[in-house]
Amino acid sequence: MATPDFRVITTDDGDGVTYTCGCECVPTARPAADGSPGHEHCCCGKVHFVGAGARSALESYLAERKQTRKREPDYDLGTASIELAGKTREVAWAFPRE
Ligand SMILES: [Zn+2]
Ligand SMILES: [Zn+2]
Repeated sequence: MATPDFRVITTDDGDGVTYTCGCECVPTARPAADGSPGHEHCCCGKVHFVGAGARSALESYLAERKQTRKREPDYDLGTASIELAGKTREVAWAFPRE
């Protein structure tokens, strides 16, 4: 699966990372002040994390959902990096497999 078109967006909460989701939302995630990853899980089921250790945070998040939810899809996973407020940030994404 191709990497989503991650890009920086300025919001009232500061700069964040979004992508063209395909639904009407603009899912936006940003790292916490200490650099640890923040995430957004869109209503359409796509999720992305931004910050240090984004990939492992995403994997534990998905593992926990798998244990606690009856119906949890399989995901395609990937990582990317993006320049956010002068720093290179790790991005990890998981999109439900069709
Ligand atoms: Zn949505
Ligand atoms: Zn969406």
